[in-house]
Amino acid sequence: MTDKGKLIIISAPSGCGKSTIIGDIMDRGQLDLQFSVSATNRKPREGEVDGVNYHFLTDQQFKDLIADGAFVEYEQVYPGRFYGTLRSEIQNRVNEGHNVILDIDVKGGVNVKKQFGDDAVSIFIAPPSISELRWRLKKRGSESDEDINERVGRAEFEMQFRDDYDHVVVNDTLPEAIAALCAISSTGSDIATSSREAMTAGIFGGSFNPVHNGHIALAKALASSGEVDEVWFTLSPLNPLKAHPEELVPDRQRMEMLKLAIEGIPQLRVCDIELSLPRPSYTITTLRTLDHLHPAIKFRLIIGSDNMLIFDRWKAHDEIMREYTPIVYPRPGYRWDGALPLPVHDISSTRIREMVHNRQSIDTLVPPSVANYIRHHRLYR
Ligand code: 5GP
Repeated sequence: MTDKGKLIIISAPSGCGKSTIIGDIMDRGQLDLQFSVSATNRKPREGEVDGVNYHFLTDQQFKDLIADGAFVEYEQVYPGRFYGTLRSEIQNRVNEGHNVILDIDVKGGVNVKKQFGDDAVSIFIAPPSISELRWRLKKRGSESDEDINERVGRAEFEMQFRDDYDHVVVNDTLPEAIAALCAISSTGSDIATSSREAMTAGIFGGSFNPVHNGHIALAKALASSGEVDEVWFTLSPLNPLKAHPEELVPDRQRMEMLKLAIEGIPQLRVCDIELSLPRPSYTITTLRTLDHLHPAIKFRLIIGSDNMLIFDRWKAHDEIMREYTPIVYPRPGYRWDGALPLPVHDISSTRIREMVHNRQSIDTLVPPSVANYIRHHRLYR
């Protein structure tokens, strides 16, 4: 049976860049997303196409559909102007396993989320501030002062609903807002969901191909070092052009091994955010995106002494240094004075892959559940 798709509800006060963001995500084609075309009784604007931007209806047609129960929700968004989500736009697609994106007003968004519960993810795109919003609308130059006042007033009203949404993405810089949204909307996304309390999470990135006992021992030591409350294993995508064919284990399988490896260990979590970010994936984008998604959490970067020695080659290394103070762990052969005094484990994923390839036992090098997984799925042969 196909898994059902999700509804991705996106709402924002006007002027927050919602249509640009949605357009960009759809254009990337990275996620299996289909757009729910709403019905409205407003007239088409220049360039808008019936059935693509909206189903443009007469007042009477709209009323008839209400009477027929054809809408999942509808709202009078502006005086005399109705907009509604048609059941027919979402039902089949979701049942066929597609994710459906809904660009709807704030009240409609709250309403759909109430009806669909966990089958829907609701995202509120907020402007950095109301004064910034006013400035953006003025800069756009397409509205009169009166219109701007009306929209800003409406935005203030709509902002009151932000806490009713699952996620709030502040659109202060567009690329990061897009990245955050992509990450949230990503199919089967397993972004570790934050508790809303203040805490520090250490981001431990890698391709974990496969995850091994050295990784786990290190993460446990970091978690009890007092530097962080949690360690998030953050899976990076593999570069198909760089990897050997027998190394190319799909993201999903490396993720499953990670989950098996940390099962039941407190303070350790997995995070798949990088799988849905634009490639090549830069650590700074990952960290900023996590900040957007989890404003209450303080993130720090976990990094080996080998990488620390060449850190000045990393994109935005000074910002990472300032905002996400790295925690350095020792790697054999690479001395870094600020490294935490943690035991060094000389196990490598490369070596494990070679051993599997040569039919040698890896039982002492990876958790039993991971060894079984590798055997069962005949990986690295
Ligand atoms: P516009 O007329 O500028 O295309 O859209 C005006 C507002 O109506 C936007 O905030 C848009 O998100 C919202 N809207 C569009 N479709 C629907 C819908 O099906 N239901 C609801 N509740 N709002 C919608």
